[in-house]
Amino acid sequence: MSAQGWLRTVRHSKSVSFLALNDGSCLGDLQVVVAPERMGSGSALQGLATGAAVRVCGELALSPGKGQRFELQATSIEVVGGVDDDYPLQKKRHSFEYLRTIAHLRPRTNTHGAVLRVRNAASRAIHAFFQERGFLQLHSPIITSSDAEGAGDLFRVTTLPLHDPPRTVEGAVDDAKDFFGRATYLTVSGQLEAEIGALALSKVYTFGPTFRAENSNTSRHLAEFWMVEPEVAFCDLKGLGELVESFLKDVLRTIREDCAEDLAFFDARIDDSVLSSLEFVIETPFERMTYSDAIERLKASGRAFEFPVEWGVDLQSEHERWLTEEHVKRPVVLTDYPKAIKAFYMYANDDDRTVAALDVLVPRIGEIVGGSQREHRFDVLKQRIARAGLPPEEYDWYLDLRRFGSVPHAGFGLGFERLVQYVTGMANIRDVIPFPRVPGSATF
Ligand code: ATP
Ligand code: MN
Repeated sequence: MSAQGWLRTVRHSKSVSFLALNDGSCLGDLQVVVAPERMGSGSALQGLATGAAVRVCGELALSPGKGQRFELQATSIEVVGGVDDDYPLQKKRHSFEYLRTIAHLRPRTNTHGAVLRVRNAASRAIHAFFQERGFLQLHSPIITSSDAEGAGDLFRVTTLPLHDPPRTVEGAVDDAKDFFGRATYLTVSGQLEAEIGALALSKVYTFGPTFRAENSNTSRHLAEFWMVEPEVAFCDLKGLGELVESFLKDVLRTIREDCAEDLAFFDARIDDSVLSSLEFVIETPFERMTYSDAIERLKASGRAFEFPVEWGVDLQSEHERWLTEEHVKRPVVLTDYPKAIKAFYMYANDDDRTVAALDVLVPRIGEIVGGSQREHRFDVLKQRIARAGLPPEEYDWYLDLRRFGSVPHAGFGLGFERLVQYVTGMANIRDVIPFPRVPGSATF
């Protein structure tokens, strides 16, 4: 048989050499044993160094050594691509910070190879979950003229010359002269478009890149990240809570089955709670709690939080983590947030002060999913658009969906990298996406 890949390590003993060969298909290396007397003439050991790309022919045999069941006993080796002496990934372990500076080589490390395989498995599991349940994938646009939440933090997309843009008579930049005849941005969410899909096709989901120019240098924020956004017609907040719980459990179960070797590695090397917490989320029913209830419990906790808790404040990561990690000790579906801190499109509850919103909190991460039942009543929505100070003419189409066959509908957004962080135990979100984009840094 033959095998090809990159050499992870090269070890010479008196009579034989041992090569660890990896092609990225799995975590484990293939041990190649090179005994000169078995090699055809013309085969040399030259160029066999860590990082080199090689093709090996030989016989697969049971391995007498420890650590592997099989080994490839080489009869010929070809160095397909040699390696210079200054190859950065020599044997010693590197910090993740350093590896970020060589994003073009870090996929060749055990950790990043495993991350990329888990990402792939997670993506497959997500598509499988929806496809098996009759959801259609909707391709929402990346360039958009609407700011989904009216919240700012947008990247502008323009072909206007930066130094000397055309101007209106008042002196402002003339967006009408821009490529699309108006100002456009990179999308922050596919939700509004997903609503269009749901109100025609009943069950849809988007899975695409989203962009936020928020200047948050945290371990769980990227400027470019991938988001999964299902949207379901004839669905209320309770139905959404059931969907999100079965979704997370199912996806995690599939990843655990497909990536057993990689997850064992993360558990051993990165965070020893990876496997147990995965098991726990898969097996334990999620707690349901209202925001108001959570505030009461946070206040009664006796904890000195950095950000004080009062009804009406947005929960911080420290609050979310206390609730899920220490208080109920399981994933929490938190519902019915104050209207004032949530987006205009969320369904207004009868109490006139909360909306039918939902966040899912998990240990280690805090918020992993945010969603809501959408406001489907024309009059209420129109009023909320006005109160939010949004330009009503921009939302005509959105209001049309409430004039023509409106139904209760709901959806959520899962940050794909937060999921991968959760599954792998990787502490920093920059290490679970191949090419991280964060303030001040966008390599390639
Ligand atoms: P957070 O409060 O953590 O910043 P958010 O409330 O702004 O999140 P949403 O607008 O509800 O987030 O987005 C839906 C999901 O997208 C979040 O639950 C989270 O998983 C993910 N997400 C949001 N912002 C980012 C980001 N900058 N980088 C990576 N994932 C993100
Ligand atoms: Mn945010």
